Amino acid sequence: MQKKAKKTKLEDLSRYVGVCIYCKKEIHSDDSFVALVNTLNPITHKYAHYQCMKDDDDNRKEDSTFE
Ligand SMILES: [Zn+2]
Repeated sequence: MQKKAKKTKLEDLSRYVGVCIYCKKEIHSDDSFVALVNTLNPITHKYAHYQCMKDDDDNRKEDSTFE
């Protein structure tokens, strides 16, 4: 038995998270993003779009083939 699609208010809320360290654009909570530890004491985070991080990762892999 399936219930009617329930509205999740949290998903509708697009919250500002921070600035992407790669493209410098704003990240909102409905974007696909990752939080990276910036400093441990006090703990702060930096944020990146998942896609930006993935692109950066790919670039590094390409670089390493020159070694
Ligand atoms: Zn980005």
